[in-house]
Amino acid sequence: MGLQKDEALVLTKISYGESDKIVRLFTLMNGKVSAIAKGGSKSQKRFMNTLEPFNHIRIEYFKKQNKSLARIENADLIESNKGIEKSLKSFCAASFFAEFTDRLTKDGERNKDLFDVLKYIFINAKDTAFGSSEIVINLLNILKVTGFLPNFKSCVYCGREVPDEEKVYFSKERGGILCKICSSSLSYKTYPAGVIISLSLFEKKGNFLIDPKFIEYIQAIMEDFIAFHLDVKLKSYRLLKSVIKEEVSSINP
Ligand SMILES: [Zn+2]
Repeated sequence: MGLQKDEALVLTKISYGESDKIVRLFTLMNGKVSAIAKGGSKSQKRFMNTLEPFNHIRIEYFKKQNKSLARIENADLIESNKGIEKSLKSFCAASFFAEFTDRLTKDGERNKDLFDVLKYIFINAKDTAFGSSEIVINLLNILKVTGFLPNFKSCVYCGREVPDEEKVYFSKERGGILCKICSSSLSYKTYPAGVIISLSLFEKKGNFLIDPKFIEYIQAIMEDFIAFHLDVKLKSYRLLKSVIKEEVSSINP
């Protein structure tokens, strides 16, 4: 690959040795890239602080064909993460979406739409208080651009379009809703009328207002589906949920 110039979002950073850092980046042109920055060398010292999680950076790195770690040659800031640390909820939300992206993608897989979704999540995390609805909407956005969005429109078994009044059966195994007839012979969970209809609005419009009384059901659908298909049980998600819950119960004790 040789020397690459790219834009990247910093997903994670770990210190390595005395002064080095290993970062996981989601780049615009080449998807996920793991890279090392050698803090000991003078030329690299000046950009070490740029390599912080949730920063949007311009980067030059060198990658040899059969090496898994690239070497960072240069980096400068496009959009700083400053502000995310002010709210625990925002910080936890940004951490979760960074980890989710990391787990959902393979090294070197370019996905510009995912890059854009994640970029806006990090920008919004600086001045929006992330609540349950924002988290669900962003989660759906990421599933959509990575091709993992469940089918909320037609029966995943027979393919028939399911009328709204029948949209109550969801099969996590098959990744979508079932019609009434197919539900008689397959496993599923039933959700109150309106829950799946609101999710199908997302599929249609890319956004929707979540009725607060549905939020727990929608979270349950997403969690079941993600745990089953993506084998993702994220530490950062459990933390995020507990932080949001605490906040809700401190408002309504
Ligand atoms: Zn069917």
